[in-house]
Amino acid sequence: MTVTTPATPETALTREQAEFRRLVARELAQRSDRGSAAASLAAVAAAVRTLLGDRWAATQAADARRKGGRRVHYLSMEFLMGRALDNALDALGLRDEVRAALGQGAPALDAVRGHEPDAALGNGGLGRLAACFLDAFAALELPSFGYGLRYEHGMFAQAIHDGRQVELPDPWLEHGNPWELVRPEQRYEVGFGGMVSHAGGLCRWEPAELVLAQACDFIVPGHGTDHVSTLRQWRAQAARPIDFAAFCRGAHEASAQHKQEADALNWVLYPDDSTPQGRRLRLRQEFFLVSASLQDMLARDQREHPGDMTGFGCRNAVHLNDTHPALAPAELMRLLLDEHGLGWDSAWRVTTAATSYTNHTLMPEALETWPVAMLEELLPRHLEILYEINRRFLADIRARFPGDEALVQRVSLIDEGHEGHERRARMASLAILASHKVNGVSALHSELMVQTIFADYARLWPERFLNVTNGVTPRRWLAQANRGLAGWLDEQIGSGWRTDLSHLQQLHALAGQKRLGTAAAKIKLANKRALAARIAQDTGVQVDPTSLFDVQIKRIHEYKRQLLNVLHVIARWQAIVADPDADWVPRTVIFAGKAASAYHAAKLTIQLIHDVARVVNSDPRVGDRLKVVFLPNYGVSLAEAIIPAADLSEQISTAGTEASGTGNMKFALNGALTIGTWDGANIEMAQAIGEDRLFIFGLRADAVARMKQLGYDPRLYVEENPQLRAVVDAIADGTFSPAEPERYRSLVQTLLQRDPYLLMADFADYVRTQQRVDALYRDPAAWHAMALHNVAGMGHFSVDRTIREYVEHVWGRAPGQ
Ligand SMILES: *Cc1c(COP(=O)(O)O)cnc(C)c1O
Repeated sequence: MTVTTPATPETALTREQAEFRRLVARELAQRSDRGSAAASLAAVAAAVRTLLGDRWAATQAADARRKGGRRVHYLSMEFLMGRALDNALDALGLRDEVRAALGQGAPALDAVRGHEPDAALGNGGLGRLAACFLDAFAALELPSFGYGLRYEHGMFAQAIHDGRQVELPDPWLEHGNPWELVRPEQRYEVGFGGMVSHAGGLCRWEPAELVLAQACDFIVPGHGTDHVSTLRQWRAQAARPIDFAAFCRGAHEASAQHKQEADALNWVLYPDDSTPQGRRLRLRQEFFLVSASLQDMLARDQREHPGDMTGFGCRNAVHLNDTHPALAPAELMRLLLDEHGLGWDSAWRVTTAATSYTNHTLMPEALETWPVAMLEELLPRHLEILYEINRRFLADIRARFPGDEALVQRVSLIDEGHEGHERRARMASLAILASHKVNGVSALHSELMVQTIFADYARLWPERFLNVTNGVTPRRWLAQANRGLAGWLDEQIGSGWRTDLSHLQQLHALAGQKRLGTAAAKIKLANKRALAARIAQDTGVQVDPTSLFDVQIKRIHEYKRQLLNVLHVIARWQAIVADPDADWVPRTVIFAGKAASAYHAAKLTIQLIHDVARVVNSDPRVGDRLKVVFLPNYGVSLAEAIIPAADLSEQISTAGTEASGTGNMKFALNGALTIGTWDGANIEMAQAIGEDRLFIFGLRADAVARMKQLGYDPRLYVEENPQLRAVVDAIADGTFSPAEPERYRSLVQTLLQRDPYLLMADFADYVRTQQRVDALYRDPAAWHAMALHNVAGMGHFSVDRTIREYVEHVWGRAPGQ
């Protein structure tokens, strides 16, 4: 006789659980492919979405009733959400209901989960930060909206052909998006081009083209609360889809031109901006996001506070995630001046009260500017407004600093261009001018921000600048990604860490106990076995789960120095070959990451990783002592699979270049030890965890700056370090690319001649520090105690703490309130 566990009787279910079962059954009944993973996913997602819809309505009603406090509007061109199913089931407490709801014979939850595509509407850290923020908005019950674009294709999918990256379109909407709630009644017109008429002192923009912005909502559930947050993504539709007269004349292609132009706004995240057409499309996307979002905010505010436009800034925070949405203050000014009849001073007060801005990079070349000519063509009224903002601002500067025309030129919103360069509008300058608060994302980055790129503005308005160090959500990055560790933490210190991550501190007192180290080691090993299976499946490489998993996963970029990691791998390979019988700690070096499609040096790094991996992995003298793998198509879900299995986290950017990093936080939270430079949030992590519990190496930011100033010669380091010379020679002489010995010539030349990211200067210390890593790994008890101390120190890096700081210092009150 078979005994089956009886399903929970209907009567014992909560209202939501019962509703969930009913909704899943209803969805399944409508599908011909019942029993497939696709049908299960669609049914569960639709049921969850409906329940979240109820919570959404209750949240909006509660937010509208709230007196005081402000609604936060987070504008971002990127939201790197990843999968939604696991998170939603956890938040709603429905995980254990899925089996009963889907019925017998349904695929396992793991299979259903694996079927969900990642919502990869972002490039990297900046977009993932926005996604973590939405999670905290809900958990902290903060009245809020995230605003973004609904791209048909997010970040490209990465395939590897012959060791080279190939970009494929990301088909995430191929099977529809069961999470999306389309809001047909939430639509706004967004204009482009045309002219400005000035009649009777009134300005009116008459756009040549109108595009409809249609709201598509994604509801983000809160953990430990019924509150939810909203990601509102705009889909563009032509206001006049086809030119019917042209169509009837038989001019089919011409008749669809408007539709085509509108659709293009949704096609992809980051159209290749190496062409003028690509840059123009990007500007159109940015304005489309800004205009639709602001119209939506104003409409909501007017519903709740009819006739009180001047109070908008006190009730609403408009936050710019980097400068991509920096046209927001110009558009808000236009709406207030031209559509709502406010005077300049009053409109500017409202705008600056509402606006705040986060900077994400110090690299001057990454600061956005737009050709004035392009603005004039696409956004003529906004250009006028920019000029007027600038005229008033510069008059003020000239009054404060008479005769300092150099300062005027440096801080002007307009780069006047010279020697044939076109005039350009500086978006970071606009963002700073219009914001009451501007923040960097780690202590070091915020400090360097006011010392370097924004030094002039910081002198003008020192009180405007502050730091808010990034954080990550412990729900996704610990509770869901690492259920083994999470459950074990519940047993050791209680489950309070799930809502208040500072509870992790209690682990410090326990970390030295042998019993706990052994338990932590077991959890890690299980995660490593699972990853080893995935590596075998995805790359064909067999790796030893007991070897040290040394992991660097992030966008491939020169400043992040994946190449430095490769140099160490080559040095290690050469050393093993020279002395195979030494006491080597077996290592598996794991890479993942995408290179921007037009970024040649980054793509070459991917190819080098593959070339080195081929040589090392097939070298019989090396055996299991060293393996190198590159897991393709990095994204949120892959990160969730890799991070819990990492022993060592590579955070090795040139000091002063990584604004914060959040990958570093996810790793330490999962018990990996960090090898890293004194950069970004690594510094604050070291301070929180204990500096001797991380492997810190390399030049610090001040030394990097000094070295560059004095004249840095990478050749000197190569000449005096035979190990480094052997590594560089091997790359240069075609050891890893015998069929094409010249393949890495440009790469080696850059290293020897300019080495802008100081790999040569940091190499020796990096290799020495890797030896310290080996030494500790040989002592498992010491290693795992250290790992637990790392977890214990990570309470500060919860995104909940980050959002509390934003509320307290940036969003909570309008200036002067
Ligand atoms: C966390 C995360 C990042 C940011 O990683 P860094 O190492 O801080 O650059 C990028 N992409 C994904 C998918 C992430 O989850």
